[in-house]
Amino acid sequence: MSLKIIVIGGGIIGCAIARELAGAGCRVTLLERGKVGSEASSAAAGILCPQLEAEGPSPLLDLGLGSLALYADFVEAVRRETGIDAELDTAGTLVPDLTRDDVLASERVFRWQHDAGLPIERLSAEEIAGLEGHLSGSILGGIFFPKTGRVNPVALTRALALSARARGVDIREGCPVVSLRTTGERIIGAVLADGQILEADSTVLASGAWSSALVPKIRIQVVPVRGQMLVFETHRPPRRHVLVTPRAYLAFRRDGSVLVGSTTELAGFEKRVTPKAMMKLIASAMALDPTLESADFAGAWSGLRPGTSDGLPLIGPVRPGLVTATGHYRNGILLAPITAALITESILRGQTSRSLEPFSPLREPPAARTEAVL
Ligand SMILES: Cc1cc2nc3c(=O)[nH]c(=O)nc-3n(C[C@H](O)[C@H](O)[C@H](O)COP(=O)(O)OP(=O)(O)OC[C@H]3O[C@@H](n4cnc5c(N)ncnc54)[C@H](O)[C@@H]3O)c2cc1C
Repeated sequence: MSLKIIVIGGGIIGCAIARELAGAGCRVTLLERGKVGSEASSAAAGILCPQLEAEGPSPLLDLGLGSLALYADFVEAVRRETGIDAELDTAGTLVPDLTRDDVLASERVFRWQHDAGLPIERLSAEEIAGLEGHLSGSILGGIFFPKTGRVNPVALTRALALSARARGVDIREGCPVVSLRTTGERIIGAVLADGQILEADSTVLASGAWSSALVPKIRIQVVPVRGQMLVFETHRPPRRHVLVTPRAYLAFRRDGSVLVGSTTELAGFEKRVTPKAMMKLIASAMALDPTLESADFAGAWSGLRPGTSDGLPLIGPVRPGLVTATGHYRNGILLAPITAALITESILRGQTSRSLEPFSPLREPPAARTEAVL
């Protein structure tokens, strides 16, 4: 008898997990409150660069590198199944230095990552100009992460949902879960807003920034961290590399438009775009790429990242019958393939090929790091 699974949440994480479990023979129902992919997963830039924010060797860096290694096959498998090209580009991520502080930060990152044997290059201003022309004349040098890049998160989430459906997943949109169904310690399913009860052998909580509403007893809470994003039409071929400074990043889409992001704000569940953030992002983006002056403003939005107090996701078992796959914060697009693989292993085999201990939803919260991480 195949296992019956409920996945709560139809973002990139829930869709990837539902698809993977269905591919492994499970009978999966995915419950999405609104529309599939309508929250953080469609607000994201889709940058795939695990080394970018790493401050030293860490389990999260290893997880990100592991997921990046899966990406090309993941995107190709989904493309074969659905015909949707998720636009994976791995030309690399460029971090140009515009200030002395940027130079010091880049030197620090280069030193430890180079010593750790990670793929990273230190570039001169001339070498950066050779990779991307017409950037700011004030660039002092920078670092480069080869074989990293970007995917289109909207296309990928749509493709994952389509592939999941084709594999037999029952995707129900407009279907909010209001609580988990328990018997003793065991979670045996979900209660829907209309009172309907769905039972399952395992329930996967993948409801992003809203996850803590359903499992209040986990000591690490998931909190919404707002990110604002702008998009411009450039009317020229896209740049090849993702461009990042500590103040803004630029991620180019194949149609020549460019995403400019992003803020990290603790503003509750309020999704707003604010003039102050827009002005700061535009100024920072144009300081790096003055050609944006002639671009057309094409839109702005904000999304809620699922943040945690220690910056690590919550991946793994909570109680019998319940696993969480949430809290991916700034890396949910990057971490989707490996999260789907690990959750599937955990449910089907009761163990995983890589330790989930650092990401256990039952770990202790750090005493004083909340502000620093978020
Ligand atoms: C501006 C911005 C830029 C980003 N850039 C990047 C990036 O470049 N690279 C990267 O890797 N990551 C990036 N991220 C982070 C990434 O978007 C998230 O980590 C990822 O989308 C989380 O996916 P998710 O499926 O957990 O959450 P979501 O996409 O938010 O999905 C959760 C889903 O659960 C549903 N849900 C909630 N409660 C319930 C309920 N009770 N019942 C049923 N359904 C429910 C919601 O409606 C939602 O659709 C960015 C995020 C933002 C906001």
